[in-house]
Amino acid sequence: MQCFIVMQGQTYQEEKELGMIWSRKQDSGGNLPHSWRRVKEVKEEDRLFHYVKGNIVAISVAKTASRIAQRPSPHEQQGALGYLVELDTHELEVPIHIRSKIDVLVRHLPIKYSPFQADGNGNQGYLYPCNEELAIKLVELISDANIYQIDDEQLELAMSPVRQTEHDPFIPMLTETETELKTKIRLGKQKFNRALLPLWAQKCVLCDIVLPELLRATYSKPWKDGTDVERVDPYNGVLLCCNHHALYENGLIAFDGQGRLHIAARIPEEDYEKYSIRAKMKIARTEQNKPYFKWHKRHVFKG
Ligand SMILES: [Zn+2]
Repeated sequence: MQCFIVMQGQTYQEEKELGMIWSRKQDSGGNLPHSWRRVKEVKEEDRLFHYVKGNIVAISVAKTASRIAQRPSPHEQQGALGYLVELDTHELEVPIHIRSKIDVLVRHLPIKYSPFQADGNGNQGYLYPCNEELAIKLVELISDANIYQIDDEQLELAMSPVRQTEHDPFIPMLTETETELKTKIRLGKQKFNRALLPLWAQKCVLCDIVLPELLRATYSKPWKDGTDVERVDPYNGVLLCCNHHALYENGLIAFDGQGRLHIAARIPEEDYEKYSIRAKMKIARTEQNKPYFKWHKRHVFKG
């Protein structure tokens, strides 16, 4: 299951009534923008979050994979050829206002093709990818706002959460989405961990700590930014103890292509010893680590 965010504005009502999303095959200049091309990637059972004027207003399940089809009427582009996906849409009783929730979402926004800016405003375009971590956060926000417990008296009779009616497929769909996304992340990270540990002799590459409880398989290119292949590639990471893991993940240390340590200016030199780090200390990296270290240093390091 993949997730997407569709930015719709005024086309939302019309596309909801038609039960689909649709993008043209090319713009007037003959180009195919990434956010249109992406409609081609949608498969049956994928999930789409609908963003309209600052809010997530609905979540859909793709009923079909994308196919080439004419734009259905009524529309000014009626008859034009494009990519079409049929949807089963669940409109939210309580929409999710992105700008007021951006604090919990911002760390899950990818560097490339992010649907939202760091201030919570939506980006231009039609269909954006939504990584599993961002999708889980959105599902949690949707559940918190839209699924409520019935009052105490009734609760004794029915201990399960309810929305409007007993048979509303909305709750099972949300639960299934969350479970599937979490399973994908868990299995991916397990595979990554298993393959990465032996590459670094099962110890922190900076301080040689070997206690397994303190060791973390740490991504250079994080899950939110990686392809499915990069997410399980053991060279996309380094084995670090909890402290060094936190420093690396937060961009306070980085490695260059040569495997040399770089330390952010926020950490004063007199404190290096406390953190068990030394300027320019070099680790034994492999060629395969190099592109990932460089990516991390460029995009995550707060030098
Ligand atoms: Zn360490």
